[in-house]
Amino acid sequence: MKTYDLIVIGGGAAGMAAAVYGRRAGLSVLVIEAVFHGGQAAVTPEIDNYIGFSKGISGADLMENFHAHATRFGAEFAYEQVLSVLEEEGAIRVITTRNEYKAGALVIAAGAAPRQLGVDGEAKFVGTGVSYCATCDGTFFSKKTVAVVGGGNTAAEDAIYLSKICEKVYMIHRRDTLRAEAVIAETALKEPKIEIVWDSVVDEIQGGKSVESLKIHNVKTEESRELSVNGVFIAVGIRPNTDIFKGIVDMDEHGFIITDECMRTRSEGRIAKRIYAAGDVRATPLRQVITAAADGAIAAYYANKAIGVV
Ligand code: NAP
Repeated sequence: MKTYDLIVIGGGAAGMAAAVYGRRAGLSVLVIEAVFHGGQAAVTPEIDNYIGFSKGISGADLMENFHAHATRFGAEFAYEQVLSVLEEEGAIRVITTRNEYKAGALVIAAGAAPRQLGVDGEAKFVGTGVSYCATCDGTFFSKKTVAVVGGGNTAAEDAIYLSKICEKVYMIHRRDTLRAEAVIAETALKEPKIEIVWDSVVDEIQGGKSVESLKIHNVKTEESRELSVNGVFIAVGIRPNTDIFKGIVDMDEHGFIITDECMRTRSEGRIAKRIYAAGDVRATPLRQVITAAADGAIAAYYANKAIGVV
């Protein structure tokens, strides 16, 4: 069984920052990533608030820089799905689809995945008009009409991105003000190709072989109508990837992992000295690349102190 000082679960911004700080502290570090490094940031069209990139940078490029940085310091990456984590005497055992590893400390940086809307037609049309990733699927809707559901940063950024590709973009939001931060919201509001459908929710996604229309209703007037669209991008928030950590670390009612300011997790109320959490998996007021990276750095710093390698 391969043994590392530090194992990081998740190769997004938080995980890769933990890897850089872990390696720089002299720890042997393995990052285990199920899909591809970069996480949600890698599919974010433009990141304009990661300090130091004054002209903005695409999420994919920023995450490639993170990866190059972590590998330059010698962090290892394994592309495997973690099945379970066990706390043993003085170590953590991590079992994946392909291997079993032992670690002195663990950083859970497994990120979050887009939430589903839960309406009729959503599951049926995934891949034929329903998408959760504008940068991945936007080009399929060149010069077509699409809708984005949601009013947060993701929805507004997706709508702005899609307005460069599509003929028209409806942004369907259940309230009369956007949740997105002011600078992003203002850009969406000013974009002529974006029409915001306020106070409205989607009841059904309809079509034949692919999406053709949405049944929506206004929550204030109760008026229902159909909106002709070729695709719908759902951006209604995120769900933490924490299912396999249930019973191991304490979580809030939404499944986000509770930590202290050292990124230490708790288990049944007691501090779990070898298990840290960082980034979007964490119960935290701000989920950005910059906060994820900071979380990862802090987690690796305290993990190093706890296992006392250096
Ligand atoms: P979010 O901030 O939680 O926003 C989700 C949006 O979806 C809200 O507007 C919410 O409406 C709406 N919504 C939720 N459930 C719904 C439902 N069942 N039906 C209709 N609408 C629904 O999620 P997010 O935009 O994915 O962002 C997640 C986190 O990542 C946030 O912390 C965000 O700041 C961060 N992020 C940052 C950036 C950036 O800084 N560039 C980019 C992307 C994401 P209400 O407003 O009514 O609640």
